[in-house]
Amino acid sequence: MLIVQKYGGTSVANTGRIKAVAERVVAAAKQGHQVIVVVSAMSGETDKLIRLAHEISDRPDDREMDMLLSSGERVTIALTAIAIQKLGHKSMSFTGRQVGIITDSVHTKAMIERIEANRLKIALDEGKIPVVAGFQGIDEFSDVTTLGRGGSDTTAVAIAAALKADLCEIYTDVEGVYTTDPRIVKEARKLGKISYDEMLEMASLGARVLHGRSVEFAKKYNVPLVVRSSFNYAPGTLVVKEDEDMEKIVVSGVAADKNQVRITIMAVPDKPGIAASIFNEIASANIVVDMIVQNISSDGNATDMSFTVSKADSKKALEIAKSVSDKLGAKGVNMNTDVAKVSIVGVGMVSHFGVAAKMFETFAKEGINIMMISTSEIKVSCVIDVKHTERAVQVLHDIFGLAAA
Ligand code: ADP
Ligand code: ASP
Ligand code: MG
Repeated sequence: MLIVQKYGGTSVANTGRIKAVAERVVAAAKQGHQVIVVVSAMSGETDKLIRLAHEISDRPDDREMDMLLSSGERVTIALTAIAIQKLGHKSMSFTGRQVGIITDSVHTKAMIERIEANRLKIALDEGKIPVVAGFQGIDEFSDVTTLGRGGSDTTAVAIAAALKADLCEIYTDVEGVYTTDPRIVKEARKLGKISYDEMLEMASLGARVLHGRSVEFAKKYNVPLVVRSSFNYAPGTLVVKEDEDMEKIVVSGVAADKNQVRITIMAVPDKPGIAASIFNEIASANIVVDMIVQNISSDGNATDMSFTVSKADSKKALEIAKSVSDKLGAKGVNMNTDVAKVSIVGVGMVSHFGVAAKMFETFAKEGINIMMISTSEIKVSCVIDVKHTERAVQVLHDIFGLAAA
């Protein structure tokens, strides 16, 4: 079998952990498999590099951020290759550029366009275990790009798709995908398998365990994906195509995202084309807007326009909102950074009434105020005060009975 194994930050947090990873990798090779390893930076390293840049500037240039952040993974690929060699196996490390991971030029959140995996194939043919830097690529100008926080998962799945690997294993610090973050809810239950669609929804709603784009790739190219722990040999969670024997559970998971801010443009004159002018400008800055809520003001001539963006984009989005507000003659702009988005997910929701109502009622009973709501066929999301996040996740997990199999 050809297996791509991805090890996250905590799995390569120090040289002891890196040696343990090397042993795991070599064991798979000894079983006769071809193995490609993808690693993240040591845990905390990417955060540290971001902090350094912000000690110098509060809005550092995106191209330079990519140059900076890509250095974390350079350290771990070399150390992992050295650790594998030390065990007597051939190994070679590769940056994103060296394996031809070609992305667009949207720095700090680039998307992979193609992978020219020639060097990987040669290394495999020579009996070497390639160790590839996650999270990074290069654009058409040979500039280093990164794929967004958590993007090493996407590197691994994209390589697995490009080389038609038999399996992509994502090794992390929990035993698989749970009904919610097991660090928030003790009774969270590990899932034996989860469909690509539910996983995609969970990931995009803040369940960090897999990068959203990695699940998109896995679904599109049918990559068999397993999430499991690098700290033990528990079987993990299979992420697969939906099949008949998969129960259509109404609510299968709860996710929380503290990585958002809410921006409000106040008293915007209420005329056609206003929303277009605001959101076109934000889109041209490559900022993704998540939720949007418009409230008609009491006199009926103006409207408050609120929307959420990721924390990383908040400063840029705030500047744009201020300039649009001036242009449109609105009253001003405010930004709330103390918000979280809490969501319930489930493919069975589409055929059940009252799921959203039950969520709202639960929050009401708990005295948790809902600031924004958005729904789709398979999820309901609420923006609430960040201080209620853990309690909100816990009560939803309880009320929808997720702890029981
Ligand atoms: P890595 O560094 O290995 O990529 P991450 O920190 O990115 O690890 O992702 C793993 C973390 O995801 C876990 O430690 C856990 O706290 C969090 N998490 C959030 N939601 C879930 C969930 N539904 N199932 C499992 N883990 C989750
Ligand atoms: N090191 C990067 C990050 O911390 C990528 C990753 O870990 O997947 O976001
Ligand atoms: Mg991760």
